[in-house]
Amino acid sequence: MNSKPELIYEGKAKKIFAHEDSDKVVIEFKDDATAFNSLKKAKFEGKGELNCVISSKIFQHLIEYNIPTHYLGLKNKNSIIAKKISIIPLEVVLRNIAYGSLCKQTSIKPGTVLEKPLIDFYLKNDSLNDPLLTKDRIYLLNLISYEDLTLISNLTLKINELLKNFFLNIKLKLVDFKLEFGYTSEGQIVLGDEISPDNCRLWDLNQKNDTIVSLDKDRFRNDLGGLIEAYSEINKRINNFIRFN
Ligand code: UDP
Repeated sequence: MNSKPELIYEGKAKKIFAHEDSDKVVIEFKDDATAFNSLKKAKFEGKGELNCVISSKIFQHLIEYNIPTHYLGLKNKNSIIAKKISIIPLEVVLRNIAYGSLCKQTSIKPGTVLEKPLIDFYLKNDSLNDPLLTKDRIYLLNLISYEDLTLISNLTLKINELLKNFFLNIKLKLVDFKLEFGYTSEGQIVLGDEISPDNCRLWDLNQKNDTIVSLDKDRFRNDLGGLIEAYSEINKRINNFIRFN
């Protein structure tokens, strides 16, 4: 008899279900979108499926380049099977170009190309509004060891190089993105969560002048409209690229 899988956790954009193998989970991508720490909420029919397939293809690409991840495979159109991990409560943001909160908090002008990638760590805690951390605060709060933070930073830089090239092939500029990492039951640090237009800023390079056309969640954050069209366009470009390579 097939009983309904047990819901282990429900987040803003995903649901985590138990898997028959206790070392695995099923992650379902929801159609819900939130921004500004959930002050803004909406539902976009089809977003879950699009993020699920986009993220799956990106994780497969990273795995080909030996990045350790939680990803095990696609289960259906809007869910994946992944290794069960214990998430490190850090949001790791890498920025190639200044935009978003970096420009709100500093005098750097939006669109400034950074001399080298900037990694910002935020505390993954909604009730505290995901505050920006310093390295000393990370150690003060015992969130992670020096060795593991170095490992995560190096992995993030390597992932950035792979993603920048991946997106360049499909005429997208990778402005910034957010990653999450966790420990497997064997204690290995792996990349978790998702990589999709929900947590990357991607600008269209198919524009004649330097106009910024966002094909990511900024369409929702900034009320630009056309979110599903933008995510579908990314999925289409990835599929075309995979087909011819
Ligand atoms: N980001 C994310 N989740 C968050 C905060 C940021 O996925 O809770 C992503 C966001 O989509 C962008 C990058 O991290 O690609 C940098 O976001 P930023 O710090 O500029 O914050 P925002 O402007 O989104 O408030």
